[in-house]
Amino acid sequence: ALVLVAFSVIGGYISSLRRNLSISRATIREMAIRDALTGLYNRRHVRELLEHEKNRSLRGGDIFCLAMLDIDHFKNVNDTYGHHAGDAVLKAVATTIKTTMRNTEFCGRYGGEEFLIILPQTDIKGAFIGAERVRTNVENTLFPDIGPDFKITVSIGLSGYKMEKDMDDVIARADEALYRAKKGGRNRVEFAQ
Ligand code: GH3
Ligand code: MG
Ligand code: MG
Repeated sequence: ALVLVAFSVIGGYISSLRRNLSISRATIREMAIRDALTGLYNRRHVRELLEHEKNRSLRGGDIFCLAMLDIDHFKNVNDTYGHHAGDAVLKAVATTIKTTMRNTEFCGRYGGEEFLIILPQTDIKGAFIGAERVRTNVENTLFPDIGPDFKITVSIGLSGYKMEKDMDDVIARADEALYRAKKGGRNRVEFAQ
């Protein structure tokens, strides 16, 4: 009887080890594809999703758009309120993007304060409406911990996929539109030709 008890205790222990192991596998997978600060996809994974979207378009002719978003004057936030406030702003912008996006869309943190949104089966007109919604929602976000009048704005560049082989070209067009949004006064959406 003692041996049987010992076996069941050891058996229970082994299955709990197994459970923990499978949880940590899922966690490791999540850690590999997500940005730790914002919880959005990381740059590498967003590139993978882009390739996937490209291949889907090449097969079925589906259109899709890219939005490159950059926080305006973000360096000022760090310089004036500290790095901790900067991180809080990054998280808040990520949350706003997530809650504004449709559930078919993907977003990743592409650089320090740069985010890339993939809008599947969306033309440039639809993408513009979505991007405007993100822009205004960020503009209307309050930051009581930083200050009562503190506001953040973002600039967004859009490009539509035109059957390019190299996604760098599509990103470059979104970047160029983003540059025009910055030059045009920031807190605005521009699209690439
Ligand atoms: P612009 O309106 O032209 O985009 O100006 P900007 O100040 O936003 O642009 P700039 O590229 O000069 O500054 C980006 C800043 O983002 C500089 C860098 O220190 C900061 N940054 C990048 N990653 C992080 C981060 O993870 N946390 C914090 N707090 N700051 C970051
Ligand atoms: Mg930037
Ligand atoms: Mg910036």
